[in-house]
Amino acid sequence: MKGPRPRPVPMRQCSVCGAQRPKRELLRIVRTPQGEVEIDEGPRTRPGRGAYLCAAGACLTEGARGRRLRQRLGVEIPEAVKAELMRRAQAPA
Ligand SMILES: [Zn+2]
Repeated sequence: MKGPRPRPVPMRQCSVCGAQRPKRELLRIVRTPQGEVEIDEGPRTRPGRGAYLCAAGACLTEGARGRRLRQRLGVEIPEAVKAELMRRAQAPA
């Protein structure tokens, strides 16, 4: 007998390395309709343009240092968001 059908896992692409991953393994950065850039951690996806990063390691660092996020979101990434990405990059998984 087969178990329940697995539910399709929503996949998203990391803006830095381009890997496709399940959405919950990625961190979403959102540019809100008000033009603010924030880390989107809510249980629901917030409105606005989003960029995804692998939720650990080098992609967070590159997201904070590089231009990819800015290119993707079309705005400067605030220092506070960069600092938070760097902090998470160093946090144990
Ligand atoms: Zn990545």
